[in-house]
Amino acid sequence: MSASIKQAADIIRSGGLVAFPTETVYGLGANALDSLAAAKIFELKERPAFDPLIVHIADPEEINGLAVIRPGLAQNIKALAAKFWPGPLTIVLPKKASVPDIVTAGLSTVGLRVPDNKIALELIRQSGCPLAAPSANKFGRLSPTTAEHVRQQLPELECILDGGSAKIGLESTVIALPKDGFAILRQGAITAEDLAKILPVSRQPVKNNGLASPGLLRSHYSPGKPLYLLGAEPPLDKSRTGCLVLQKAPAGFARTEALSPQGDLRAAAANLFSALHRLEADRAVEYIVAEPVPEEGIGLAIMDKLRKASFRWK
Ligand code: AMP
Ligand code: MG
Repeated sequence: MSASIKQAADIIRSGGLVAFPTETVYGLGANALDSLAAAKIFELKERPAFDPLIVHIADPEEINGLAVIRPGLAQNIKALAAKFWPGPLTIVLPKKASVPDIVTAGLSTVGLRVPDNKIALELIRQSGCPLAAPSANKFGRLSPTTAEHVRQQLPELECILDGGSAKIGLESTVIALPKDGFAILRQGAITAEDLAKILPVSRQPVKNNGLASPGLLRSHYSPGKPLYLLGAEPPLDKSRTGCLVLQKAPAGFARTEALSPQGDLRAAAANLFSALHRLEADRAVEYIVAEPVPEEGIGLAIMDKLRKASFRWK
């Protein structure tokens, strides 16, 4: 069914789950202050309990109820929020007791962001609570960038808000804020160069208390077929292989997906998961080879996803 924001907010308030669009990928949301509701996310996604959830807020002011702001840090957070929120930046901060341990997978920190999507913001406001939300897919599988992707992966989910295709199509950049600047925990749409215009790059080693970021798992985001980086693949029958490239698709493959005919890395990022979903769904495709993209700007995040998708097939 195509639900209204009001119906969705009622479900959130009564402890249920709702899939909703964000500018990065579709999220599977629950009241972040309700540990039972958050537990349902782990259950439906089959997500391991060590993998923390990002908490989505509608207004930067809401940080104060969820995280402890070290003296001296308020200005830095304000500057980051002014520049990047709403947007694909998750800031990891020491958590307050109000955030249940299950949400942060037992970590003493919580990841927070303001999503840049009207439906998401309205859902948070009408629910009257922050939303814990990972991507709305089974754990380890491709992230959904359309409502249809969510329906296919989580058919048992009753409420999916449809906001069309995700604008960015890649997960948020996750950062920590040590005293001397920022440290990237997971690559995403906002790059180190973007961040360095606001804060210095930290020179301190980032302490990983437990597994600091699921984004740090070596295998993640995989389609249900062997995926190899082009150049590192075993001998394959081209007629049974799908090929993912940036610009120009070579001939002879069972299916080809060009991410951006203009070679634009932002457009490529927005198309990445949809293209992988199509390769996954095409029965003529048994194997996937993916052409590496230039590792600059958002290309770093694209390559991070492709390496993780290919890891188990090495
Ligand atoms: P996703 O499933 O795409 O929403 O991924 C959530 C990501 O946020 C995880 O992969 C973690 O990398 C990151 N994250 C969330 N909370 C924290 C936290 N407290 N500390 C470090 N990373 C976090
Ligand atoms: Mg995910």
